[in-house]
Amino acid sequence: MGRLAGVAGPDYPGLPGALAVESTPGADRPTTLLGMQVTVTATPQAGVSLAGDMAALAQAAHLAAGAVQIVAGDPTSWTTPSLTEGVAPEAFAAAAAAAGIRVYLHSPYLINVASDNPRVRQPGRSLLQHTLRLAARIGASGVVVHGGHVTKDADPAMGIANWATTLERLDLCAPLLIENTAGGGRAMARLPEQITRLWEAVGDSGVGFCLDTCHAWAAGIPVADCVAIVGDITGRIDLVHANNSRDAFGSARDRHAGLTAGLIPVAEILSAVAAARVDAIAETPVEGHVEDLALLAAALTSSAA
Ligand SMILES: [Zn+2]
Repeated sequence: MGRLAGVAGPDYPGLPGALAVESTPGADRPTTLLGMQVTVTATPQAGVSLAGDMAALAQAAHLAAGAVQIVAGDPTSWTTPSLTEGVAPEAFAAAAAAAGIRVYLHSPYLINVASDNPRVRQPGRSLLQHTLRLAARIGASGVVVHGGHVTKDADPAMGIANWATTLERLDLCAPLLIENTAGGGRAMARLPEQITRLWEAVGDSGVGFCLDTCHAWAAGIPVADCVAIVGDITGRIDLVHANNSRDAFGSARDRHAGLTAGLIPVAEILSAVAAARVDAIAETPVEGHVEDLALLAAALTSSAA
């Protein structure tokens, strides 16, 4: 992990621009799987024009991460996702492959395909399909989408049925991973009993699962056991979002913290990462990425040994 030394701060001083994307994989990169969320949109370097998503890839390479998660545009809008600054998806895919970095695409946060409101559900389903198509073109290892919820007067069974219909209609041209959520009384994928009902309806569709440790904690699921608890229900965990939480256990609040900067004992997060043995993405504040990635690498290395 020697390359991580000296890299600090939100702007990753020392980032060698686009050249980092072409750095040879292997030498300093752990063979284990880890990653980070990158939401910064650009890292200007003198004389280097670097688009946002390419910058994310370059930063992942620079930090010796084996995986990266991007959001492809503004995740808080209904705009069809696209790579920033007109980067061709195929060029991005080639750069990621050359750097040996797996890419996960987080779908826009507004998507709620469980919703009992068709004016929310239907555009979300369409946007999710667009996101899957982009993911296929960039060679993404998965598209993450939140489990969603129904409104307070609706029967949660309606949301489950909406998920089943969505998966019947979607062209799963890239792996789709449903993520557990932190709060909401009528959520689809917050508590174990909710995930159980959802999985009874969608488990045979080929959909995968993304387990977020901050959301599990907020939902009241012990983080030390969350991989076993959820894995027993879904039979699979395809990705871990390794985040700490600024709020109390069971708070239903979704405020991420750096791995050592929140209320979840960091050992519990790292034990979940080690138990899952899949890619782990830290959706944590950028100033702690170097430390967070080192912790994830150590956890995954120990679990692989
Ligand atoms: Zn997450």
